Amino acid sequence: MVKKIAILPGDGIGREVVEGAVEILKTIGHYYRHEFDFQYGLIGGEAIDQCGTPLPDETLELCKQSDAVLLGAVGGPKWDQNPAHLRPEKGLLNIRKQLDLFANLRPIQAHPTLQDTSPFKGEHLEGVDFLIVRELTGGLYFGKPSERTNQNGEEAVVDTLFYKRKDIERILETAFELARKRRKKVTSVDKANVLESSKLWREVAEEVAYRYPDVELEHMLVDNAAMQIIHKPNQFDVIVTENMFGDILSDEAAMLSGSLGMLPSASLSANGLHLYEPVHGSAPDIAGQGLANPIAMILSAAMMLRYSFHLMEEAGAIEKAVKHVLESGKRTKDLTNHPNQYVPTKQMIEEIKEAL
Ligand code: ATP
Ligand code: MG
Repeated sequence: MVKKIAILPGDGIGREVVEGAVEILKTIGHYYRHEFDFQYGLIGGEAIDQCGTPLPDETLELCKQSDAVLLGAVGGPKWDQNPAHLRPEKGLLNIRKQLDLFANLRPIQAHPTLQDTSPFKGEHLEGVDFLIVRELTGGLYFGKPSERTNQNGEEAVVDTLFYKRKDIERILETAFELARKRRKKVTSVDKANVLESSKLWREVAEEVAYRYPDVELEHMLVDNAAMQIIHKPNQFDVIVTENMFGDILSDEAAMLSGSLGMLPSASLSANGLHLYEPVHGSAPDIAGQGLANPIAMILSAAMMLRYSFHLMEEAGAIEKAVKHVLESGKRTKDLTNHPNQYVPTKQMIEEIKEAL
């Protein structure tokens, strides 16, 4: 059956790296005999320039009629002074909301061959391979009230950490399902010694764990988790946590893999239409120069094959090809400290294609 993929290149290096993902998918399609139908849509700054809005209706329609969405990155200095509703980032927030993408998955893998640009060395990185599952549509970032106020004439402020039990339940279920296909361990991160929301989180985690007797559950306080990710990163399999804790821990964990240009992500919805994008942004400082590392985007495409189409072997083949190219010593500029010893974006894409 034809698999319809909406391609939203966006701005800056988004356009350069998306091309790499499409190339690699075409190669996979060729060898494994899958038919992918790529349909392109506008989002971000380019959409503002052409349609006067960062997320045109046609783009949203295109996504809804597709089986999966692949997104590059949005934003750039050209639109930085725009009013809020005409900012490229608004397009990203909108599409997440419109497609109800409640679970953000960030796999963290250390590549011991990439020590040049990582603050961690040697055996510390051995066996580091975990998945952060971050709740994406609730918590402090969406709770109401969130406002400045006053108390007896004194300036004050309030943000609200709000969750419904069923929202906690669905993100924990997602984590347990994913752990079942991995090394069967879930670390649920909270602040249950202080926060009421975390107490409910912990209760629900216990209830869900009861339904997954084959998966081990451990609870960890967020401050300890922040330390353990640095101290002993190979102890983790799946980490699941609420929106803000996940935001912070996933950026921290990103440092283990050496470069932003290495990190893919998936955002899952309940209805089966998922979105895949690299963790990095549009990198205006290197856009248009052929210097971008396409690996984060290519690995995002591999995640798409795995989570949207259940093509495990194909996804694994892409990951293996990337590993092979890194082991052979090929580097984009972000992955090396040696001036002049790097390959441009297009060549990196070619190398991965060859390895496939
Ligand atoms: P955003 O607000 O869109 O997240 P940002 O400023 O936080 O943007 P990026 O656009 O990701 O972050 O860029 C941060 C730094 O990382 C920049 O110096 C950029 O050049 C570098 N960078 C990001 N992605 C890549 C990549 N794929 N390859 C090489 N360098 C990258
Ligand atoms: Mg950023």
